[in-house]
Amino acid sequence: MPKSDLVLLALGDEQILQLFDRALAAVSYQVAIARDRAALDKSLQESSPSLVILSQNFDGADELEIAAGMLERFPTLPVLLLLLQDSPKIVKKAIHIGVSDCLYAPLHIEEIMQCVENSIKRADRIGDWNRREVKRTTALLQQRVEELQKLDTIVEHIEDGVIILDEKSNLLLINPAARRAFGLWQDEVVEGKPLNEVLPHPDLKVLLNESIKTPLPHNEITFEDGRVLSAQCTPIPRIGVAITMQDITYLKQIDRLKNEFVHTVSHDLRSPLTAILGYVDLLDRVGPINAQQHEFIIRVQNSVKNITALVNDLLDLGRIEAGFDSQKEVVPLEGIIRYALETLGSQISDKKLNLHLNLPTDIPQMHGNPIRLRQMLDNLIGNAIKYTPEGGDITIDVEAQSDQIILRISDNGPGIPPADQPHIFEKFYRASNVPKGVGGSGLGLAIVKSIVDNHQGRIWVDSLLGQGSAFTVVLPLYKMAVMQPA
Ligand code: ADP
Repeated sequence: MPKSDLVLLALGDEQILQLFDRALAAVSYQVAIARDRAALDKSLQESSPSLVILSQNFDGADELEIAAGMLERFPTLPVLLLLLQDSPKIVKKAIHIGVSDCLYAPLHIEEIMQCVENSIKRADRIGDWNRREVKRTTALLQQRVEELQKLDTIVEHIEDGVIILDEKSNLLLINPAARRAFGLWQDEVVEGKPLNEVLPHPDLKVLLNESIKTPLPHNEITFEDGRVLSAQCTPIPRIGVAITMQDITYLKQIDRLKNEFVHTVSHDLRSPLTAILGYVDLLDRVGPINAQQHEFIIRVQNSVKNITALVNDLLDLGRIEAGFDSQKEVVPLEGIIRYALETLGSQISDKKLNLHLNLPTDIPQMHGNPIRLRQMLDNLIGNAIKYTPEGGDITIDVEAQSDQIILRISDNGPGIPPADQPHIFEKFYRASNVPKGVGGSGLGLAIVKSIVDNHQGRIWVDSLLGQGSAFTVVLPLYKMAVMQPA
């Protein structure tokens, strides 16, 4: 039994004090005596006792108040309360405060010693548990700190730019890669400042504005020196947003080279194709040909026409994507729709399709490239004609709203499988259910999408397999300045 524990006695009655002092010293406890509150405070502070025995009315004060004060300062200190007589009310309050035990007259030495020993042991056990807990929590914290340090090192060293913003778009973190990308000094303190003040790049602004509307917006950030970053904005709950950026300059260069290659090849193919078609057309004029030769000539003509259409589509796509058709003018949309329908009229009647045209009387004028808008309509209506079986229905709806025009081309054709729908606007993509014998290059909708993008519009498809498809195009309207009479 470790008897070197120090017991602090705060007992008002001198006789009782002597009794406790002798009894404790007899079993080798160290004893300290406080005769008033000031001495009690001093001893508590300086000698760190293992136990305090406090008597009722010590120094004329309320013993519960003194005990509560001590336990507030030293919550794990065992305090024994010595009452003049058994008082369940006081005992209840004392235990509520956190006093270890209560003793009351008549006092027996063995009972006192047992109580003292139990209280010290319990306090030791609590102390051990506390130490173990502190050790465990410290180890956990250490582990977390190490993990955070690792994370910090990763964010510091990755080649991708990382910017974390709080909910008010103030910078919380910007890693060295992002600093390098935007030409910020590595040691310039920018954390806490608004993003648009530190990095006033218009593409970043667009990306952040998009993040309010779309869940995971994605945008390219272009720099004057030709660099291009692909940036993604991810909301982080209770923090703000994370912007991650990868340098895709080399991919853009490869894409540009590939487009140039396709453009050159397409361009070089056009003249020989025209020559082939010209000579094939002349064949039956230079001498008699039999029925089989005639049939072969028609097949050659069709094949050359198909290749020519593909080459023309490729050249068009290249031109649209390169922004060569960015010049816009006021477009009479109704005229364009009617003209497209006139041209495609024979195909509609050949397939005995029913055309429903819902055109409002006063379609406002819009701003755009008439040739490309016509091409967009040709491709969309052409597809509806091509894919809808004989006798089917094609509906064209036009709706003008205050700031946009909505065009919908629907059919009751084969529909597009859900798995194909996200890809049909990609170059050369054809859905898995294209009916047998229906030709195509898979470039038509890619051209449509580029034209819509060029007009700052949006396009999407709603389609049910076996029931039909509806392509919706939304184009912003051109607001004409209205001259007010003087
Ligand atoms: P294609 O030259 O093959 O028609 P598009 O780019 O115009 O190429 O269309 C891509 C694919 O989308 C088509 O191959 C077809 O699978 C599907 N598609 C387009 N329009 C329709 C439609 N109206 N009905 C059913 N499928 C369609």
